[in-house]
Amino acid sequence: MQQSKGAQIVRGKTKVLYECIGEPERLIVEQMDAITAGDGARRDVISGKGRLAALTTSRVFRFLNRRGLPTHYLGGGEDVDENAMLVRRCAMIPLEVVVRGIVAGSYAKRYPDVQRGSRLDPHVVEFFLKDDEHHDPMIAVEEIVARGIARPEEVERMSELARATFDALEEAWRERSVTLVDLKVEFGRLTEGGRNGELVLADVVDNDSWRIWPQGREQAMLDKQIYRNLERRDAKALARVKRAYEEVAEAVAGFDAR
Ligand code: 5GP
Repeated sequence: MQQSKGAQIVRGKTKVLYECIGEPERLIVEQMDAITAGDGARRDVISGKGRLAALTTSRVFRFLNRRGLPTHYLGGGEDVDENAMLVRRCAMIPLEVVVRGIVAGSYAKRYPDVQRGSRLDPHVVEFFLKDDEHHDPMIAVEEIVARGIARPEEVERMSELARATFDALEEAWRERSVTLVDLKVEFGRLTEGGRNGELVLADVVDNDSWRIWPQGREQAMLDKQIYRNLERRDAKALARVKRAYEEVAEAVAGFDAR
């Protein structure tokens, strides 16, 4: 990537955003080697994880762009020696939009009477407010609108795009005999002139963003849940987590193959 990094503008738990010198409507995203869970309560560093996350995100976004789904991704993230991704600048909407095709995670906890692993048809879309301090509480559509977080038509558009994203990724994973269980995405409003205000998929979509079960078997999971479930976070366990991230980065490379 030819663009040069300017000032750091945000440093999150697992990524850093920089300005892009000479291009005010572009940003550079770097993913770090940190892996966290429980809103940052659990944290480790896995050397090389940032590169794998950048590879995964850039491959997934490129795939989504090719499927006609608007994302902030422009390029980069795939070079061997760096993990800088070039994206369109946007104003982030502080929501996590979750799509669920299979009962698991916090949905299974919330509804203990619903069979874990059963299908949700149609898929369920849920919104969570990004607020680590309060553990990202669920938020109703009316509250999103009442608090001025997004307009009703934007909420509608986010649901529609999140569902379409899930469907595209679900199909790509299914071709590899892997079940996409659930997925978290985030949206931003573009700030650049001609497309000002347009909603696009932003942030990252990597192996921390979904649950994926090979052959539909939860025990065979390849995603961040492996890390969340660890009882001992020793070198051997973290190496196992890294191998799963490598496998996923490799698999998503094939998503673009048509
Ligand atoms: P749950 O609500 O069941 O914990 O999570 C639903 C989906 O959203 C899962 O695929 C999970 O990995 C993802 N997810 C939930 N919260 C976060 C978060 O704070 N960061 C990331 N990267 N993914 C999340």
